[in-house]
Amino acid sequence: MTRISFVNGNFIDHDKAFVHIEDRGFQFADGAYEVILYSNNKLIDDKPHINRLFRSLGEINIKHQLSYEYIIKNIVDLFNKNNLSDGFVYMQVTRGATNRVPFCPKELDVTVTMTVSQTKTYTHEEFINGLSLVTMDDIRWHRCDIKTTGLLASTLCNQKAKDLGFDDALFVRNQVITEATYSNFFVIDNDNNLVTKPSDNNILEGITRNRIIAIAKENKFNVIEKNFDLSFALSAQEAFLTSSTLGIRPVSKINNFAIGRENSRNISLKLSSLYKEFCKN
Ligand code: PLP
Repeated sequence: MTRISFVNGNFIDHDKAFVHIEDRGFQFADGAYEVILYSNNKLIDDKPHINRLFRSLGEINIKHQLSYEYIIKNIVDLFNKNNLSDGFVYMQVTRGATNRVPFCPKELDVTVTMTVSQTKTYTHEEFINGLSLVTMDDIRWHRCDIKTTGLLASTLCNQKAKDLGFDDALFVRNQVITEATYSNFFVIDNDNNLVTKPSDNNILEGITRNRIIAIAKENKFNVIEKNFDLSFALSAQEAFLTSSTLGIRPVSKINNFAIGRENSRNISLKLSSLYKEFCKN
C-alpha cells in the first residue's frame, strides 16, 4: 500500500511529499510540532496536544488560521488513508516559505505537514528490563517548554548516549535533572511518592506526564513535583520515562548504577496498565 502524507491541505504519496527549499522550518527550525498517539482508531489526549501546539506557535509568534477541528479531521483522514488503526502522527507547523532573512517575516502562510506511522511494540521482558540512561549537560536552549522543531541538541545527545552504549541521555542543568531527550522523567522514592520535576522553561510539559500525574492522583498515589538531583534519582526504588511514543518505560540504570532492586517494577507496571486502560476507554 502507498504511504500517504499531508502537506498544506493535500494528501500526497509520501515519497513526493516536499516543502519549499526556502521554508523557514528547513532553514531556521522556525516551527513547532506535535506527536499524538492513535490507539484503536482514537486520538489520545488530542485536546491538550493541540492546545500545546497552539501555545508553542504563540510563544514563537507564528500566526495561523488553524482550528482544532481542521487539524483533527485531517489527522484522522490521514490515518484512514494509510489504513492504520494504531500509530502516531507527527505534525509540523512552520512559519512558511520566503526569501531568507534573519528575522521573522509577518503574514506568511504557515506550512503544515503530517506523517503517520505504526506504533512500535515492545515485549513485557523489554519493559521489565528497562532503559539505561547516561547523564549529560543540558545543552539545549532556555525555552524547552516550547515544542519547537529545533531538535539538534536533543538528537546529538541521544546519539552520543547510544554511541556510549546507553539507550538515552538524561539531561542535567545546574545539578537538577530536567528530562530525557524526548521524554519526561519520574522516580518513585522510598516512601512510594511519585516525584517529577515541576514544569518550567527547562522541560517540555509532557501530555503523557500530565496524564500519568492525573491517573496516579486518582489512584491515591502521592505525587510531588519538585526539583531533584542525580543522587536523589539514584536512591529511588523505581524510575521511568513518559512520552506519547513510549507510554511509560522503566529506567533500570543511570550511569551504570542500578535503580532500586533488580527487576522491581511494581509501581511502573501498575501505572503503565492504568495508562493503557485509559487509552482503551
Ligand atoms: N520532553 C521532551 C523533550 C519531548 O520531546 C517529549 C516528547 O516528544 C516529551 C518530554 C514528552 O511529551 P509527550 O508526553 O507530550 O509526548
